[in-house]
Amino acid sequence: MPADAPAPGRAVAPLGPVPQAGAVGPLGAWELRDLSHPIADGMPVYPGDPEVHIGAALTLDDDGVDVTDIRMGSHTGTHVDAPSHTVAGGRTMADVALDDLVGAAVVLRVPGLADDEVYGMARLEARGPLPERLPPIVLIDTGWARWFGDERRLRHPALDPDAAGELLRRGMRVLAVDTLSPDPTGGAAFPVHGVVLGSGRLIVENVTGLEQVPDRLQVGFFPLRLAGDGAPVRAVAFLPHGADHAG
Ligand SMILES: [Zn+2]
Repeated sequence: MPADAPAPGRAVAPLGPVPQAGAVGPLGAWELRDLSHPIADGMPVYPGDPEVHIGAALTLDDDGVDVTDIRMGSHTGTHVDAPSHTVAGGRTMADVALDDLVGAAVVLRVPGLADDEVYGMARLEARGPLPERLPPIVLIDTGWARWFGDERRLRHPALDPDAAGELLRRGMRVLAVDTLSPDPTGGAAFPVHGVVLGSGRLIVENVTGLEQVPDRLQVGFFPLRLAGDGAPVRAVAFLPHGADHAG
């Protein structure tokens, strides 16, 4: 930190009045909702993945600055899987553009699933047939995000790979689930990963807060700028101000 850094709260330049939250530029028309889990020391991870360690590296008392040492896997918390996660030679996060992760979305709600249940098109269409053309981002709300801090997270429902293929056929480019994985956790096979990542599309895992957003919305997943097999994201729902948010 430069020695002449301004004191907190002091104006750095005459930029005019500080904008009110939510009124900055064109995004003022949008209300933002966070669809990501917090990243914290010792948080749950996928079995076998690196544990999350967050601790002090430098401290205000000893070093004059607070700096945090963060160690975690590339698939920590709410994150995106690049195709190279399960597909040899698949594209990496270096080849994933922000445009690939921002756009129109639909939330498919599949309440009442049992532990370890595999759900397919019949469950996805229980509330009515899905349109022939889906928006590029499909979020699936199983309600399992509430178990993220509980052992039950491991017994999450899983998507039928045939249904994943059907969603792709209807235009899905990003499959986002509120579970550790769209495939069963603890198994040796990753068929939905194979179908989605194998076609060059993307998977986002561990989204949360879907009960707070409407079925049709705009979503952005903003990954840390890592070049490898995946990256933690800030998952953001963009809701028109004044919209009815009831699911
Ligand atoms: Zn992953």
